[in-house]
Amino acid sequence: MGFVHKPNLCPTCECKKIQGPCQQTRQNRSPWWFWRCSFWSCQTRLPFLNNSAFVGLRLQPKTLVQLILHYASSSLTKVVTRDDLVQAVNVGWQQGQHFLDVLTTQEAEAGELFCKTAVLSRSIECDATGLGRYYVKRTNLLMADQIQQLEDKKKSQCKAYPCHIRLLGLHERGGAFVAAFLRPRVALPKSRPPVEAWDEIRSSGLLDRVSHRGKRALYSDGARAWMTAGKHLGIKCYQVSHQRKEFCRSLSEVDPKLSKKAGTQVIDRKWKALKDFLPSNYHRKINGPHGSQVNPRMRQRVFQFCWRNSLKWPSPAQFLKQLAKLQGKNCSGVSFQGAEK
Ligand SMILES: [Zn+2]
Repeated sequence: MGFVHKPNLCPTCECKKIQGPCQQTRQNRSPWWFWRCSFWSCQTRLPFLNNSAFVGLRLQPKTLVQLILHYASSSLTKVVTRDDLVQAVNVGWQQGQHFLDVLTTQEAEAGELFCKTAVLSRSIECDATGLGRYYVKRTNLLMADQIQQLEDKKKSQCKAYPCHIRLLGLHERGGAFVAAFLRPRVALPKSRPPVEAWDEIRSSGLLDRVSHRGKRALYSDGARAWMTAGKHLGIKCYQVSHQRKEFCRSLSEVDPKLSKKAGTQVIDRKWKALKDFLPSNYHRKINGPHGSQVNPRMRQRVFQFCWRNSLKWPSPAQFLKQLAKLQGKNCSGVSFQGAEK
């Protein structure tokens, strides 16, 4: 099915002839599935999932198929949870979580790759969004530079500061959507997420996704930095001003091949879909060795969303095919990380 591969090589005798899958029935227990080296003096047995991303999972092939089918037929607009799986398929929570970790990691890697390689053209909406915030102590080493700057400017100190998690995105109207994380930004308590700056846009690498040829224009919601981005790309940037409650306006002098509607309606809807996709009980930060930092799971989920979005509403069968395609690339497996959160 694409999810399980025969091992290429016997680890004991390096023989390339592997037989199987074989099955050994056991008294009062479900059968054991394995591959067998066919070299007569070796006969090493390898677990069924040895050469699959699911290596380490102890499951009957039938159960693995049930898990995969349940996963592929679940709604693509929501994260599949461990409890979903445990309820739908007869597996323990640890196995369920391990299974989810494998697919989440693969989807996220594919999504990140998509965001680093897709090419956007024509009418491109650009925007940033906040994905919440977490608090950092003023002694946090990862954010020390920003905290220093803030305190120098305000001539005051707080015990802790909110740190905004921000995502930058480009969305071709009727085309691809790509996103990149900005470095989190420390701000004063009760502040709104800081507006994206030109330096941040440039270093995100996202402008490299804009095609160098053909008719192109940026459509932004008024953050000034996008004007600079437009100049940098040598294309126009049409803006609306949310501050003046202007969300959408018709443009008069636009190339006929480009959209006449200013505004960021398309990417705004995408942000909303992304936020609906992310689990609501999310822990935004983890405690790292240098102080709090953004939960890497959040990053994974965002790029998982980007990958699914790039598939353009596949049917369960098409989604299953796409998941199977991800298997060939990396069979190194994913180490079990424990529960989400
Ligand atoms: Zn062997």
